[in-house]
Amino acid sequence: MRIRAFLLATQFWCYSVTALSFGNDFNGTIPSILGITNFSYPAASSNIGFGYADGVVNTDYHQPWPLVKMYKSSVHLIRYCYADQASKDALHCSWPAAENLWQDALGGKPSKETGYNLHFVQAWAAGETQFCYAEGTYDPKTAQGTWNWKLHNRQDALVVAYRPVDEKGNKPATSASLGYTPESALFPWQSRQARHYIQISDKDDEVRIAHELGHVLGLLHEHQRSDRDTVIEYRPENIAGYTEALAAAIKDKVPEAEARQKLRDDVPFCQKYNFRGSAYVKNADQPGPIIGDHAQGPLDFDFDSIMIYPSDAQTDTAACRADLAHCPIVRRAGTSSDGKSKFEYIAAKGKPSAKDVEFVRKHYAWREEEVSQRRKRSSREVGEVKVQIKIRRSNSEVQRGMGG
Ligand SMILES: [Zn+2]
Repeated sequence: MRIRAFLLATQFWCYSVTALSFGNDFNGTIPSILGITNFSYPAASSNIGFGYADGVVNTDYHQPWPLVKMYKSSVHLIRYCYADQASKDALHCSWPAAENLWQDALGGKPSKETGYNLHFVQAWAAGETQFCYAEGTYDPKTAQGTWNWKLHNRQDALVVAYRPVDEKGNKPATSASLGYTPESALFPWQSRQARHYIQISDKDDEVRIAHELGHVLGLLHEHQRSDRDTVIEYRPENIAGYTEALAAAIKDKVPEAEARQKLRDDVPFCQKYNFRGSAYVKNADQPGPIIGDHAQGPLDFDFDSIMIYPSDAQTDTAACRADLAHCPIVRRAGTSSDGKSKFEYIAAKGKPSAKDVEFVRKHYAWREEEVSQRRKRSSREVGEVKVQIKIRRSNSEVQRGMGG
């Protein structure tokens, strides 16, 4: 009876409604033994930009999560571990809920019909699921700890970490790594451990976590596309902290005009002055150039993407909602009869868009060929009935996909 009451309480907690909010979440850095290591954005590509900001095309450093052999079948597998018990306690509802947002958008579990083959499974060793870090060593302030030695052969596991508000009330940045980085692409001094991570401070915001999950799968921000200026207007001065960052740069003898330009266009400069505008900097290389007739405007800029910030992110939300002039980004909406530019509010999204889903189907495609070959082979060997059982078992072994 007691157990049942506890389960009900847990379920109720899991259904708590979430609020939409966006902080600075993708900072272009990965943790390393020597502290924080900058990485460069993927190189320019000629075949991207069809409505999603693809961060895993034509680059060795950021790739789609690879195929892993499991029970004669190959699946794209993301093995994850909670950083520690506190992370699990905080995120055990919202993390699977974020996976489910993607799964629902994709039309269900991985299959021929849904067209994708992506699975999440908790990393385990010695017969049980494991935390990423050894007990008592993970520090949420620094997001560092001593790697759990039982996961010595799982150093590529995705670290799912909770970073609560600190005692001064500072909220750590929610952030995520981009795609999968193979060991072969790492420099010798870069840490193998925890190179894939998702760090969450809004523990109940499943939509926010689904956005971070988009980065983990390989998506960049839609509003950082190289062609974004044709469809949105960016006003860095409306981002919280702009005045302070500008003052600090001027104090460092940077001429004001140059400082303003760099707070708009230069990621390391923004980071140097702790300016959240780094998550808005237009990427000269990524994605793009866009294939197609640019005279007609950018192709398929995806305002429905879960990867675009709403107009009121990183700013005084109420001021932006009351007057678009106070928003960091707004959608261009032509000109009025008196020749003035018109703008529209970019609303927060509650789920991945059709184009976000298309990205997943492109890079984590269902592999029907292999399944049918396996079926043919097995049919010859053992007959159809036994094969059905085999397939079912292998599905359950990978915890039935993204909801698992
Ligand atoms: Zn982001």
